Amino acid sequence: MTWTMGSRTRRQIAFAVGVGLIFLLTYLIVYSLSHLGDSVIPEIYLHRMALCLVAFALPVFTTWWRFKWIGVNILILGFLIPMVLFIVSITKFPVFFWSFLVYGGILVILYRVEQYFETHIAMVGIEQEKYQDELNNLEVTFKAKGEGISTFFEKYSTYYNLRKLAEELTVSLSWGELAQKTVDRSMDFIPRGDYSKVTLAYAEERKLPVVARRRMRPVGSWSAKQGDIFDFWCIKNRRRLIVMDSQEDFRFVLGDVEKKENIRSLIVAPLFHEGRVMGTLAIHATRPNVFSHDDLRLLDAIATLASSAISNAMLYEKTEELAIKDALTGLFVRRYFFDRLKEEHRRTLLNKKTMSLLMCDLDHFKECNDRFGHQGGDLMLVQFSEILQKNLKNVILARYGGEEFAVLLPETEKAEALKVAEQVRKAVEKTSFFIRREQVNMTVSVGLANLPDDTMDLEVLVQKADQALYRAKREGRNRVCVSIS
Ligand code: GH3
Ligand code: MG
Ligand code: MG
Repeated sequence: MTWTMGSRTRRQIAFAVGVGLIFLLTYLIVYSLSHLGDSVIPEIYLHRMALCLVAFALPVFTTWWRFKWIGVNILILGFLIPMVLFIVSITKFPVFFWSFLVYGGILVILYRVEQYFETHIAMVGIEQEKYQDELNNLEVTFKAKGEGISTFFEKYSTYYNLRKLAEELTVSLSWGELAQKTVDRSMDFIPRGDYSKVTLAYAEERKLPVVARRRMRPVGSWSAKQGDIFDFWCIKNRRRLIVMDSQEDFRFVLGDVEKKENIRSLIVAPLFHEGRVMGTLAIHATRPNVFSHDDLRLLDAIATLASSAISNAMLYEKTEELAIKDALTGLFVRRYFFDRLKEEHRRTLLNKKTMSLLMCDLDHFKECNDRFGHQGGDLMLVQFSEILQKNLKNVILARYGGEEFAVLLPETEKAEALKVAEQVRKAVEKTSFFIRREQVNMTVSVGLANLPDDTMDLEVLVQKADQALYRAKREGRNRVCVSIS
């Protein structure tokens, strides 16, 4: 155990030593002076006195340095005492007795002074402790408030970012763009993840294609084109999912895709469209325990915003499609076809090019309707439109009327168009159509007109193609007739 000297003890020792030295010196001075008598001071006494004064000054200055103004008092006393003692010594009283008395007096005075300061210092110490306590309390309060403020600020910035995202998601009406924006922003929100993706069961109901992705770090292959078991889990259970470590989670048996992608931890939130889960928004990481439940809640909030935006975009696309596309066959409707026809007509004239128009009408379609009913006839129309789509590339296809179809072949000479029309006619003739497992054969008649060969006018072009079609019908059907200019 080591003992360290306290500042109070040090001060007391300094007092005692200082005062003791004063006493000693005083005694020596008085002794010297008392031996002088009335006579002239001999040289030896002068030396003694000088020595005494130097010896006296040292402790006095030491004490002064240590105790500042108390030391000054000692200094003054140090001068006064020898003077008093000198006078007293003339009265021939025992010098030692007087000196001892004065020393005692000094000790008492200094003790009182010391005590006063001790009390004062103690009080100041208590005050200081009180202030220190208050300061500590303030620090604790400040820290707590600071933490509160930072939590508040964090929440505020999250809400602000979510609001900004909601605004951003209103800018586009393309669901592909919106899906990309969603993965981008979710990675900004939750940057701990390595990879983010959106899957949508929009195009094909049973498949879950990845429609947007963003990779943050060059880890894993991240090449999966389809949703993984976690996406399917999320869709099946209609709720968000957090996996801390996929290798430890008994709910999932990892397939090849998950192993290849090295998915260790992840969060997934469902995307809703008209009340059903249409897809997922997921963030993956190759390390375990990357995400918190707060991250999951945030991802869910982003998914909710994205759901309504993507859902709106899908509805818009559907409405747009319905306006220009025939619901049964998926081909353009007559009105839209005319718009495109006008556009193409203008371009052809401007560039001095050529274009051909085919009018197709199924032969004896009424019989098909009579035999299989209207719905059976519809199935036939769908299969016929599929043949058209398969055989005709770089053309504009439309369902012109009930079982009439129009084909615009831009930049196509009459001879070339005739070849294409023959190809379609033969394809229809060769195909075995199936309606309710019954095999049916069908033929088509086609009328062909060309610009500029037959006319330069658009309306006349349509009329001429129509006339050629009727001629094909008159001449026995299942044939292609070319307009006669
Ligand atoms: P052809 O053209 O060879 O002279 O004989 P057709 O029997 O095909 O005669 P037409 O073209 O005049 O008849 C068209 C029939 O197509 C009339 C109508 O009942 C039927 N039809 C029109 N629109 C639809 C449709 O959307 N679905 C079905 N199933 N039938 C339709
Ligand atoms: Mg018809
Ligand atoms: Mg017909």
